Amino acid sequence: ITILGIESSCDDTSAAVLRSNVLLSNVIASQAVHVKYGGVIPELASRAHQQNIVPVVDTALREAGVTADELDAIAFTRGPGLVGSLLVGVSFAKGLSIARNIPMVEVNHLQGHILSHFIDLPDRQLPHPSFPFLCLLVSGGHTQIVRVDSPTRMRIIGTTIDDAAGEAFDKCAKVMGLPYPGGPVIDRLAREGDPKAFRFARPHVEGYDYSFSGLKTSFLYTLRDAVASDPGFVERRKADLCASLQTTIVEILLDKLVRASKETGIRDIAIAGGVSANSGLRDGIAETGRRRGWRTFLPEFKFTTDNAAMIAMAGYYRYKLGEVASLDVSPAARLENM
Ligand code: ATP
Ligand code: FE
Repeated sequence: ITILGIESSCDDTSAAVLRSNVLLSNVIASQAVHVKYGGVIPELASRAHQQNIVPVVDTALREAGVTADELDAIAFTRGPGLVGSLLVGVSFAKGLSIARNIPMVEVNHLQGHILSHFIDLPDRQLPHPSFPFLCLLVSGGHTQIVRVDSPTRMRIIGTTIDDAAGEAFDKCAKVMGLPYPGGPVIDRLAREGDPKAFRFARPHVEGYDYSFSGLKTSFLYTLRDAVASDPGFVERRKADLCASLQTTIVEILLDKLVRASKETGIRDIAIAGGVSANSGLRDGIAETGRRRGWRTFLPEFKFTTDNAAMIAMAGYYRYKLGEVASLDVSPAARLENM
């Protein structure tokens, strides 16, 4: 089975081709326009997707050595995401589906992030978790613990009640005057810093839920108070601030994950989403996993942020179950269930 995946939920236009679960190509056009605004501008994102989508799909097919007529299905991200961005991918998928008479499969972007753990490379099999497993999904818009029972049956057992982990990284980075997106920059600076230099507020939230707004406020106040008497504070202590912030976020993330694993008895533990690229989180999961006898699954870096390979992977499982989308499908900014 050969699947074309299309992803356009936020600011990356991506197309990928998968043969069953083997990756033949994965092309990503990232949008530079947002950097100077310090965040994604929906109007500009949509316009850039329109410019990118045709060349990106062409390149993905060419790199895979596949023609459009050889495709069995077209998987596309239906949501969640920015409607104007999603619309470009959905419309393109429809056009190609009608023109070539190829079925379309709709994919939940978040399921895509999780199912990236089942992709293999042409020359290398990657480790796959066994069902049921727990996935800590940490991205720019979501922070969830998901119980994954099968490729199509997933249940969110914990979620953030305010900011996402990626948002916490990005907002704190902004306060320090770092460029957008701040997550990777903090990761890099944190390597030179002392993780115990500062202490920030930790949330008290019920169950497996998360909260990052208190941490963000506490970070902001620490900076504001210090800068009042020492204008050069941020510049001088940047590495320590980053290391302490990152360590706090990782500890918050791990705390609930450990509880969820203990109480469900599930010890196959995966992470997914943009923040799963974070070196502190990767080390933390691996180290906690060794102590607790988990099998841990860290995604390849190219599958951490938005990509169409994960959409094709999720689409493959749905296609096999005969779940074909109708031509009147429309994008969804939010999707109620997993
Ligand atoms: P969602 O998937 O929830 O719709 P999104 O697709 O915008 O959101 P992703 O592309 O999965 O999010 O992830 C982007 C986020 O990951 C950003 O907040 C970015 O700062 C963060 N991120 C990327 N790399 C790192 C890193 N090394 N350390 C920390 N955060 C990182
Ligand atoms: Fe994403």
